[in-house]
Amino acid sequence: MIGLISATAAGAAARDRLAAAWPDRTRVYDGPVGDAVRAAFAECERLVCFLATGAVVRLVAPLLGEKASDPGVVCVDEGGRFAVSLVGGHGGGANELAVAVGEVLGAEPVVTTATDAVGLPGLDTLGLPVEGDVAGVSRALLDGEPVALEAEVPWPLPPLPVAAQGSYTVRVTDRAVEPGGREVVLRPPSLVVGVGASRGAPVEEVLGLIEGALRDAGLSARSVSCLATVDAKAEEPGLVAAAGRLGVPLVAHSAEELATVDVPNPSAAPLAAVGTPSVAEAAALLGGGELVVPKRKSERADGRPAMATCAVVRRPGRGRLAVVGLGPGARDLLTPRAKAELRRASVLVGLDQYVDQIRDLLRPGTRVLESGLGAEEERARTAVAEARRGHAVALIGSGDAGVYAMASPALAEASDDIDVVGVPGVTAALAAGAVLGAPLGHDHVSISLSDLHTPWEVIERRVRAAAEADLVVTFYNPRSRGRDWQLPEALAILAGHRAPTTPVGVVRNASRPDESSRLTTLAALDPATVDMMTVVTVGNTATREIAGRMVTPRGYRWQETREEPK
Ligand code: SAH
Repeated sequence: MIGLISATAAGAAARDRLAAAWPDRTRVYDGPVGDAVRAAFAECERLVCFLATGAVVRLVAPLLGEKASDPGVVCVDEGGRFAVSLVGGHGGGANELAVAVGEVLGAEPVVTTATDAVGLPGLDTLGLPVEGDVAGVSRALLDGEPVALEAEVPWPLPPLPVAAQGSYTVRVTDRAVEPGGREVVLRPPSLVVGVGASRGAPVEEVLGLIEGALRDAGLSARSVSCLATVDAKAEEPGLVAAAGRLGVPLVAHSAEELATVDVPNPSAAPLAAVGTPSVAEAAALLGGGELVVPKRKSERADGRPAMATCAVVRRPGRGRLAVVGLGPGARDLLTPRAKAELRRASVLVGLDQYVDQIRDLLRPGTRVLESGLGAEEERARTAVAEARRGHAVALIGSGDAGVYAMASPALAEASDDIDVVGVPGVTAALAAGAVLGAPLGHDHVSISLSDLHTPWEVIERRVRAAAEADLVVTFYNPRSRGRDWQLPEALAILAGHRAPTTPVGVVRNASRPDESSRLTTLAALDPATVDMMTVVTVGNTATREIAGRMVTPRGYRWQETREEPK
């Protein structure tokens, strides 16, 4: 919940706008501001105070406790011009909140946390549990002092400006080591604990077993990503409660699946009870990895038979491949999600001209692997290979990266040993459609006229089918210096089924600074006005030019004849 506090009428007006925008997430604290701030500080995760920073500093100072648990506080001036992240920038979420409040109120977010200001990811914002001297190591990173990265487990981190050796260290490990001075330890979710239990096994017995196994193997409980078991035990209270206490999910697999896993210590008891010779070891090993703690049983003080078993596996690090569409060109048509993925990646792979489009967004230290036109297969292979090495990779493409672009060659290379994230982008056809009016208001197709990878006979057959089906057609890659006869030929096929007056839109460099567009007709289109920076959209038999715009009706003729619903 976000507590909202204001003192004056102007402040209350801004407060009410925010409350109206986020009705379910906010709560207004009325009354004397001192009491209101104290109550909100105690009850809310975050506060927005429509008060002077000085007033808020004085009110909040006596309430401050632990950085990790204090609420984040944002101050907004009465004019609603600035949203200042005051305390709890990272842990309390105030930086993020200042940006979000800024978006709602049209205020400038003011974020002074050093790591955000210079484009370094905060060590406490990487999504991994972190221990040790976060402030000291962050300062060293900012000051350009050498910081060594000791990744004992490969994990897809965002770019950090690290050196081979340094007097400060960022250690990525699942071992139960205490961070030294000048050291930060990041805990990757690299451990899977397989668990089995008899009906009614007490949570203390299960937890004691897991904790003992981790301790004896020198492993950190903070690196446990999940508990894994067999379907039949998915609801077993002791297991559910143990997972809850560890703060991880309990994942269940079918007995058939578990029975296929090769394990060092199979036994007859689970085979009879649930239909697999191993639960703990098999569930832990199912996703691959190295068995670091073989099956062990719980010990009971009363000498009765053990009710729980566990085994621990270290997963191989999984790289992350984000396939990111950049949109047609304009920066404000790049989605926030695409931007976040570009800043999340430590390796960026793409065509040089697309890299130029977003280079300013990359974090310092991002490794950029750019190549010229053509080298597509190689780019795809490079991106996948880097992800397999455990890196966070972004593979970029203009428009949507899945449309005549890199996603398919990359995913054809990839196997399930990496995580893949797709970020959709605004395609050239959509960007051009918005420029032209509403040409895509009814069924439509895109057809690429490039016969480099596709024989002309195939392209021709598809154009013919689109012509016969009266589909609106957007031609990609319509014409280049060496490829100039395909477009006239495709248009001639469409002209066989559509009037010479059919509207045709030609859009060049949609959303880029030198954007241009022209609305013409099938008969009048001059192919010389078309090049590789262009898409050509041909209307269907119902498409009209209305007030200089291209409009394809939705064609709800059936509505006129339809009977009224009873
Ligand atoms: N993935 C891209 C398409 C890449 S194919 C997308 O989703 O849009 C390259 C072709 O796309 C170009 O030859 C051109 O026909 C078209 N194209 C890409 N960006 C364009 C833009 N901004 N304006 C007009 N056409 C564009």
